[in-house]
Amino acid sequence: MDNRNVQCCRCRNKHTEADRTPRPHPRISGASELVCPRCGCTSYYDITPWHAWCWANGLIEMGVTPPADSPDGDGAIVIARGGKAHLEAVMNAVARHGYGDLEGTLIVPGVPEAELYGRDPVKALREFIDWCAQSNGRRHRHGVVFGIPAEG
Ligand SMILES: [Zn+2]
Repeated sequence: MDNRNVQCCRCRNKHTEADRTPRPHPRISGASELVCPRCGCTSYYDITPWHAWCWANGLIEMGVTPPADSPDGDGAIVIARGGKAHLEAVMNAVARHGYGDLEGTLIVPGVPEAELYGRDPVKALREFIDWCAQSNGRRHRHGVVFGIPAEG
């Protein structure tokens, strides 16, 4: 199993799962639990470095590795990066939630409409990213950064 990067939910200390300190479990005799090496808290976020990317139709996906560009150039565009738990939380807050056939998905606002009404979907995407990027570096973003990487 990978040694994941984690962050304590209480004191925000960043460490890895291997750094977590075993201590006797308070309720299960003979068992142990792993706690934050700084404050002893048991809960933590998974902050494995993740990316968020979107497709031409506005569908957003997240994961460790963005998909490679397809030969026809119709690839995904990376739009944000950050620790897994924080990236998921921020994206859930800023993106539109799909409904109908897209139930359970996240969508870049304005992109599906742009396609529908003959406007430029890339412009709609850039407006969304620029709006999200205004909060880059703010405390509540927990290190999640929006931006489209420069070409090349
Ligand atoms: Zn802690």
